Amino acid sequence: MNKNKAVTIVGAGPGGLTAAINLAQNGYEVNLYEQNEEVGLRFNGDFQGLENWSDEEDTLSILRRIGIKVNFVCHPYDGEDCLFIGPNKKSVHIKTSRPLFYLIERGTDTNSLDQGLKRQAEKAGVNIHWNQKLDSIKDEIAIVGTGPKAADAIAKGIVFKTSHKNISIGFADNRIAPKAYAYLLVNNGKATFATCMFEDFKNERKYFDRALSALNSSINIDINEAKEFGGFANFFNEPIVAKNNILYIGENAGFQDALWGFGIKYAMLSGYYAAQSIMCNQDYTELCRTNLFPKFKTSLANRWLFSHLYNTGYSIMFDAMARLDDVIPTLRNHYNTSVQKRIAYKIAKRWYKTRLIDKQCMHKNCDCVWCRHGKHAH
Ligand SMILES: Cc1cc2nc3c(=O)[nH]c(=O)nc-3n(C[C@H](O)[C@H](O)[C@H](O)COP(=O)(O)OP(=O)(O)OC[C@H]3O[C@@H](n4cnc5c(N)ncnc54)[C@H](O)[C@@H]3O)c2cc1C
Repeated sequence: MNKNKAVTIVGAGPGGLTAAINLAQNGYEVNLYEQNEEVGLRFNGDFQGLENWSDEEDTLSILRRIGIKVNFVCHPYDGEDCLFIGPNKKSVHIKTSRPLFYLIERGTDTNSLDQGLKRQAEKAGVNIHWNQKLDSIKDEIAIVGTGPKAADAIAKGIVFKTSHKNISIGFADNRIAPKAYAYLLVNNGKATFATCMFEDFKNERKYFDRALSALNSSINIDINEAKEFGGFANFFNEPIVAKNNILYIGENAGFQDALWGFGIKYAMLSGYYAAQSIMCNQDYTELCRTNLFPKFKTSLANRWLFSHLYNTGYSIMFDAMARLDDVIPTLRNHYNTSVQKRIAYKIAKRWYKTRLIDKQCMHKNCDCVWCRHGKHAH
């Protein structure tokens, strides 16, 4: 692969921007197409977390390694800042040897992850083409990172202002978050509260109202200037990462943490590996197979196991977490492959069918980039 060759990237999410930054910094001419007029419009100023438990390497060190600078809000939350509340309403405190996650903001505000990555891309010389929704690709080589295409999980929540101190609370209770969790994240006067669900989406309002009651009965928090938001996440039972010369990254490839929806790291890492494969003439599928597939498969196995815990299981899980001197290694172990996890993955793969509903393709029997009638597609 010659340097200075043009690369097309579709989608300016964390995946597309990471790929763009790496390629542009290495002398490639990068044309990044974004359907919206700005980055981060999929989000609403809500807080999210860069999880820091599934890898041995700290997430900030991973970001450095993949060429990303922290020029956005990125606040460590360790055990002391975190609380977990199960169906029995008991507050569970945990201990961690390092931050459990790094809080970041999503959306269009200056300090968001999205805006920080955009600034790095612009500085590296990426040509960002705004308001350009691509539905086919003519170039020889392209990266597609257009995000989720179907809802496997949804979130419904509010962002608000508060005087409450910084805190993170995770709730697990199928009455407020079916097969998932609700979360509160407070940082320097701003807060996000949401409930996530893996089923029964039509009753999202009911679950959100119940989640809010659970929050109000757990802590004394003032909620001011609340704005509603929502979103969805998508994962495949086996990611599809390449077709011809098109490399798929992030949620568009089906990469997600199927257990709890922490997809940002997958998006950024797959964007990085797509760029590496172009720069170093390496096989992208192989890079994903080595570096991303094992953890993804374990996350799908974990999803299947978690969804069979039910409320009694959540209480037992939280009690067990409270007894640990450090929850990080135990959580990480759950992401490591093992014979049991491989068996659970085989079951989960049959259980969770990939939903390739692609609303972007209006064509019949076509072979455009969005259709991907590949061997995994059905
Ligand atoms: C409410 C909510 C909370 C979440 N919380 C967390 C969390 O705490 N931690 C975590 O790790 N993950 C979280 N996630 C998941 C995470 O946000 C995603 O996994 C991540 O953003 C995926 O990045 P991406 O680059 O693959 O896609 P996206 O972020 O979806 O970006 C895709 C981009 O492509 C653009 N695009 C789409 N189609 C086209 C087209 N045809 N042409 C041009 N541009 C196009 C879109 O406008 C968008 O800008 C959350 C998701 C939601 C919805």
